[in-house]
Amino acid sequence: MAYSTDIINIFSLIPKGASFVGEYRFYRFSYVPQDTANGLLCCRFVFTRSLTPQEHRQIVKETKINIAFDQFALPKDTVKVMFLGRGLSSFEKFSQTITQKMDSMIVAFQHLGLEQHQECTFCHTELESEAPELRNFNGYFVPIHQSCAEVLIEQIEQKAVHEKKNLSKLPFSLLLALIGAFIGLIPQAIALLGAQYYVGILYAIVPLGALLGYRLGKAPRTKIMIASVVVITFIVTISFTFLYFSMLVIEAGYQSLQAAMQYSDIQRIFYTEMFTTLLFSALGIWVSWRAILKYTSNKEEVINQLKY
Ligand SMILES: [Zn+2]
Repeated sequence: MAYSTDIINIFSLIPKGASFVGEYRFYRFSYVPQDTANGLLCCRFVFTRSLTPQEHRQIVKETKINIAFDQFALPKDTVKVMFLGRGLSSFEKFSQTITQKMDSMIVAFQHLGLEQHQECTFCHTELESEAPELRNFNGYFVPIHQSCAEVLIEQIEQKAVHEKKNLSKLPFSLLLALIGAFIGLIPQAIALLGAQYYVGILYAIVPLGALLGYRLGKAPRTKIMIASVVVITFIVTISFTFLYFSMLVIEAGYQSLQAAMQYSDIQRIFYTEMFTTLLFSALGIWVSWRAILKYTSNKEEVINQLKY
């Protein structure tokens, strides 16, 4: 995994699991290399409350630094601060720039009265038997009780074991996904066969139908699910176009699709239709992508990052 040693050196960050953690002017943060896209260096700060959209805008205006929220992960009150990488400037120059930027970000945090957890981020209670310790929890640098972390890891591991057991349900899930995709095709079939009207966006319902079917079958919601939804969508839409086209040429008086395909005009129409189908199926998958990802779990990765 590529990461910037610059930011690690400048803020004296220490490695913990797949991330680097540290503190600057009493604010804890983690630098998570896997966040780093487009050459941006991403630092995560976890606070006791979320920012309002107005506060978000205020910070960006005040500091001219790009920030984002993590809305899907736990803990959710996270601000991701993104700095530009060093590029061609010298380490000294970059160090100066990034420290200045970090300073203005900290001032912005202080203006908004943002505070970080001192208590365990998960149970929010004080235990007499143990003090919370600072850990890298799935890329977030937060105080958490050893026992709370263990409970969380166990819960997630149990779920993972449970999902593995569910692998035997895969054939059934795939069957239901196929049925779901066919049901999802019905609106398109009605539009085409009933009114000869082609509504491309209706293909978006096909992957959703496949997804719903797969979930009903209760097989693990891993990358297998994503692959199944994608493959089944293409199989169903392509077969449908194939059948529809065969029907049209036979209605037009040809013996078979094979016979009709000897004419270059018909060949051209056939390939255009196929291409359109592929395009709209891909578009359908793209439109449904968020829904598909929403139901996908990646527990093993979380467990690996929890243990530090
Ligand atoms: Zn706790």
